[in-house]
Amino acid sequence: MSFDYDKYLRPGKLPHIWCPGCGHGIILKGLLRAIDACELNKDNTAIVSGIGCASRLPGYVDFNTLHTAHGRAAAFATGIKMAKPEMNVLVVGGDGDGVAIGGNHFIHACRRNIDMTYVICNNFIYGMTGGQFSPCTPTGDRASTTPYGNPDPVFDISQLAIGAGATFVARSTSFHAAQIDKLIAEGIRHKGMAVIEILDDCPTTYGRRNKFRSVVDMMKRFKEQAVPVAKAEKMSKEELDGKIVTGILHREERPEYCEQYAQVVKTARSL
Ligand code: SF4
Ligand code: MG
Repeated sequence: MSFDYDKYLRPGKLPHIWCPGCGHGIILKGLLRAIDACELNKDNTAIVSGIGCASRLPGYVDFNTLHTAHGRAAAFATGIKMAKPEMNVLVVGGDGDGVAIGGNHFIHACRRNIDMTYVICNNFIYGMTGGQFSPCTPTGDRASTTPYGNPDPVFDISQLAIGAGATFVARSTSFHAAQIDKLIAEGIRHKGMAVIEILDDCPTTYGRRNKFRSVVDMMKRFKEQAVPVAKAEKMSKEELDGKIVTGILHREERPEYCEQYAQVVKTARSL
């Protein structure tokens, strides 16, 4: 039987705003399959976003949803989790929103190991706000603000999350639709900060500026560049150049922030 997406959607908010070929729809469907697999209760689940094309996602789904300020999703999500630790808290957003404008909130949520699942849709560009380059735009690529090629080095979001202290980090692409839900579900089940980076297509503001003739070309690139983590472990640095390592990149157990905070409060009250 096919999956019933409709039971999680808000029909009054459709049609969505995404361009034909945008990868966000694939991620939306993966997210809903993951939520279903984890049997999350709608009333006990919050999905938070900042600003951008990916950040429109929570508006389409029937949970407790917050569409907040640009870059501030992790801060709002932290507030929800601190006030109601029993809730399942998820964040969805883009690369510009998450690791440029929201970079500080992102790294400190990782550092604290607060129990949330952050799905970051990395399409290498600020899509909604006009195609400006983000910290994830590949060096040399064109954006509206780098018409002669981006001179900057690139953030590796997954490595950034690991370095900042996230205890579950995974990566996939919008081509690997069948993997997305499984990684998000693993992230939801993990106790602590889970970051799932999905490399994603923006044909409108990134693809056409960078000579991708079609969405299919963009997808083919992901298919050809992806290397599962088990295979990547046997490859040299040179062999991995230009590849995208996919799967669970990092998992560790470390005390979760809300539980530690509750312990501090308990100790203070007992004095
Ligand atoms: Fe998707 Fe890009 Fe269109 Fe935004 S501008 S909806 S990211 S294709
Ligand atoms: Mg983006």
